[in-house]
Amino acid sequence: MNLKLRWFVTFAAWAVVLTTVISVLLTQVASNQIRQQAGNSLADVAYQMSDKLERGMFERYRDIQVAASLVAKLQLENNTEGMQRLLNRLQTTYSDYAWIGLTDAEGKVLVATQDLLEGNDVSDRPWFRNAINDISYVGDVHPALLLEEALAAEQGGEPLRFVDIAIPIRNAEGDITGVLGSHLNWRWGRELESSVINTMKLGGSAEMILVGNDNQVVLGPKELMEHEISSQALEELSLNNSGYLIETWDNGVTYVVGYAQNRGYRDYEGLDWKVIVRQPLRDTFAPVTELRKNAILVSVVVVILFAFIGWFSAERISRPLLEITAAARALGNDPRVNKIPMLRDYPEVNDLSVALNTLIQRVDDKQRQLTQLNEDLDHKVRRRTKEVLKANEDLKYEIAERRKAQLEREKLIQELERQASTDALTGLANRRYFFEHGDRLLKRAKRQDQPISMLMFDLDYFKAFNDEFGHAAGDEVLVAVGNLILGTVRETDIGARTGGEEFAVVLDSTDLEGAEMLANRLHRGLNSLKFDSIPDDRTVTMSLGIALWDREENLEHLLNRADKVMYEAKQKGRNQTVTASS
Ligand code: GH3
Ligand code: MG
Ligand code: MG
Repeated sequence: MNLKLRWFVTFAAWAVVLTTVISVLLTQVASNQIRQQAGNSLADVAYQMSDKLERGMFERYRDIQVAASLVAKLQLENNTEGMQRLLNRLQTTYSDYAWIGLTDAEGKVLVATQDLLEGNDVSDRPWFRNAINDISYVGDVHPALLLEEALAAEQGGEPLRFVDIAIPIRNAEGDITGVLGSHLNWRWGRELESSVINTMKLGGSAEMILVGNDNQVVLGPKELMEHEISSQALEELSLNNSGYLIETWDNGVTYVVGYAQNRGYRDYEGLDWKVIVRQPLRDTFAPVTELRKNAILVSVVVVILFAFIGWFSAERISRPLLEITAAARALGNDPRVNKIPMLRDYPEVNDLSVALNTLIQRVDDKQRQLTQLNEDLDHKVRRRTKEVLKANEDLKYEIAERRKAQLEREKLIQELERQASTDALTGLANRRYFFEHGDRLLKRAKRQDQPISMLMFDLDYFKAFNDEFGHAAGDEVLVAVGNLILGTVRETDIGARTGGEEFAVVLDSTDLEGAEMLANRLHRGLNSLKFDSIPDDRTVTMSLGIALWDREENLEHLLNRADKVMYEAKQKGRNQTVTASS
């Protein structure tokens, strides 16, 4: 991941973390506050409602009390008409009085508003029974069958409910002579409820529940009406006058529940009614939800903003680095670039530029030194090479010279050797050479199982020849005989001058037959020799002995045998060949 991307992601990630933490904390605090506020205001509404109810009931109670004292006075005067008027007037001043009537001590209705139920017996009614026993009665909400039938037209089909107030009537002696009872239309409670809810500006989803004695709902949502409810709030009311709590009800909805109960007013004991105001927690928290939504929106904006800040600051940080990198890459590749640009975007980059340029300078210096050293070295190497080549040439020359000298020496040695082994006059092998090499020939023939023959010959009457023609002529003959031998024998054979006018030839791989053929050839060759200083009819002859090598004998022995038969040939008259018998 490059720097830009990394900064981008880091900034964005931090922004996400921070905004999330802030949003969570904020909504947490806000929801706590809102819950508290909602709870308090619900409790307040409950309290207001309870207070208004009690006051209202107290006022009605006072009304009836005052009316009762007036009625008692009119009754003493037997002014039935006046009573009638009084009751009707009371009803008109306060329209929620559904019915007000006076009974006698037996429970028979004597006078009533709109003459309703006059003559009826109400002795079974709780309000009558309580009041006749000197207990001022403020009763719970209840249906009243008789009255309902009479008033049915007034209400839009909804069953009528009433609250009773009853006060005993006394004569001058203080005896109870009847009861003044009133039925208060419970519509009053409903109106009170909506007025309180409106005054307190409570949200639409808030519901008021009025719980009478025995935990019966006397005012509230239709589904709860006249049902018994169980709520923690009712228990709390036995400890506090007012408060709030959060609770899940039987319908599965969690509510913020405010509660209150007022216990009477002055000498009026009160109804013991409990007021509960509930609002679904969800609705209470609507502002929190809104807040959360806004927080998310703000978070997104902040995250984007931070990410871009990260992106642009990374851009600002990385741009000079990239520039330096590009220059560093171009160094050495692009001949136009020979230094890192001096960038002053921020101190670190400036330092980096300076440090890199110093480094480059140092490297350049080193390189120059190195190049110089290289050149010096090159120069030295070239000089040394030249010297070495020259020395080499000299050496070669010397070697060649030495080789030449060696060859000459060898040639000299060969010549000396040749001279040492050659007869100077004839060019044939001398006696020393003959014996040395002849023995070697015998040994090889023995290995290879080849025959060897020996020719031995001596010129006839050569002393006389010398005497007759001179020693030089004799030498001329000897040279010619040498050439004759060299031209007749093979290379492997050895022809030698063994004495003054004595010659021997060892014939390699040659039997007697071959030897005799060669002997004849030599005789003929000698006979046909011509010399300037010698008359043509004067020929030189020789006596020749042949011996076949017998394998066990040495060269000397073989030569002796040939020599012996050669003397035989001399004795037999010369100019002939004698072969030694084996
Ligand atoms: P034959 O052998 O037939 O019995 O008689 P010959 O005369 O050849 O015998 P002898 O051995 O008595 O003589 C040999 C002679 O050969 C003596 C000498 O004059 C001659 N002679 C020996 N060496 C040389 C040489 O180098 N040059 C010349 N010109 N003659 C030589
Ligand atoms: Mg001789
Ligand atoms: Mg001789």
